Formats: sequence, structure tokens, C-alpha cells
Amino acid sequence: MATHPAAHLESGHRPPGEALGGANPRPRKLRVLRWLPERWVLTTGPANRQVLYLTFDDGPHPEHTPRLLDLLAEHDARATFFLIGEHAERHPDIASRLVREGHGLGNHSWSHPHFDRITQARQLEEIDRTDRLLQSLDGRDCHDFRPPRGATPIGLMIDCLRRGRRVAYWSYDSLDYTQRAPADLIAGVRSRPVQAGEVVLMHDDSAHSLELLRVMIPEWKAAGYGFEPLPVRRGRDDRAGGASPDASARRGRA
Ligand SMILES: [Zn+2]
Repeated sequence: MATHPAAHLESGHRPPGEALGGANPRPRKLRVLRWLPERWVLTTGPANRQVLYLTFDDGPHPEHTPRLLDLLAEHDARATFFLIGEHAERHPDIASRLVREGHGLGNHSWSHPHFDRITQARQLEEIDRTDRLLQSLDGRDCHDFRPPRGATPIGLMIDCLRRGRRVAYWSYDSLDYTQRAPADLIAGVRSRPVQAGEVVLMHDDSAHSLELLRVMIPEWKAAGYGFEPLPVRRGRDDRAGGASPDASARRGRA
């Protein structure tokens, strides 16, 4: 089986110094990011509905993504996929299937570089090139951006704000990239229960999230949760017919 080019780098999602042994699913950066306006940086969805926002980074993957899509379809669950542009270009059939089956698309850069090690011009190029490809799939001209490895260089953040591009972070890290046995991942998630509106970080470039979700989706459904794509940001996308967030629900959250 081919090794996914980004897979070995994904531990970088973990904030420096955050010990795996602690297994805290909530990123430290959240302490700061949660205070920013959510039209700029999204960390959670509305908390007044029993909904979880499953998000998958680094796909599409030719083997794992279709199996994950089968599982989600089985449970009538929708999610958001933050695609790496060059992977979507390589697997257009899977990328189209995501849209056809009602999932949301997000921008995870073209080639998943270290954003804090490249120029801002290159950062923007990575994002814009991916957006053009995503637009050809779902018709929307601007997609939420999830920074590779969670890196948020200030210059880029300000540019996103200026251009009306939302940065989509997460509130709950499944730790599915840590190569732990699925039983350990599941135990970890059970021990720190998700809450309504959480944005759950997962990856579809390995079987880990699939194995985790085979167990957790039924449990979450039994607890009353539904699964939806992240609400589309109001603004430029409205004219493309994208679903708009429920404004009143979103105001209900601090
Ligand atoms: Zn990534």
C-alpha cells in the first residue's frame, strides 16, 4: 500500500508540547481562536442543535475515502471534506462523489506545505489554485480554508479576513493521525465526550477514522446527534445557491 505523502506530517496538527499521553482533544489554540468573530475563524457550529460537524482532511484518497463515504451514506450522515488540491485533481471521480452525496468541500491547500515556512505569496497561490478546482466541483467561488497542520501565520489570517475567506479550525481533535490502535482512539473519544456543535477533526487518508466511526456514529446517533456539513458562510457563496447558516441559531453562541 502506498504511503500517503501527507500522512507522516499530520502529527503537526498537534500543537507543540501537547503530550499525546494527555490526549486532550481540544486544541490549545482554541483558547485564542474562539474569541475571534466566527465569520473570520470558525471553531464550532451552533450549540443549540444536536449536530456534530465531522470534518476530514487530506483526501480524497482512492482507497479510504470511498469506504468512508459508504459508511456515511449508510447512516445518512453528511460531513465536510477539506481537500488537498492535487489529490482532488488526481481523483476527480471521488471528489465529484463527495458533492453528489451532499457533503461540503473545504480548501486544505494545493500541496499541504508548511505554511509557516513559505512566503505569503505562495500561501495564497496554494489556496487560490485549490479554490479554482473546488469551484469546478461545487460551483462555489470561495471555500473555507483549513490550514495544513493548523499553522495560522498572522499575515495570511489578515488576508483571509480582508478577502472574506473563513478559516475553519476545529474544536475536537479525534487524534486519528496518531497511529494508535482503533480501540485506544475509541476509548479516548468516549472518555472525553463530544458536545453539540463540535467540529471534529479527522482524516480520510487512512483507515483509522473509518474504524473509529464504525463504532462512534451509532453511539452518537443513539445520543441524539445528527451529522451535517459545516454551515456555509454568508456572503459571496449565497448567489451560488449554497445553504446559508441559520443566523438566529448562530447568534445564540458566544
Ligand atoms: Zn492536513
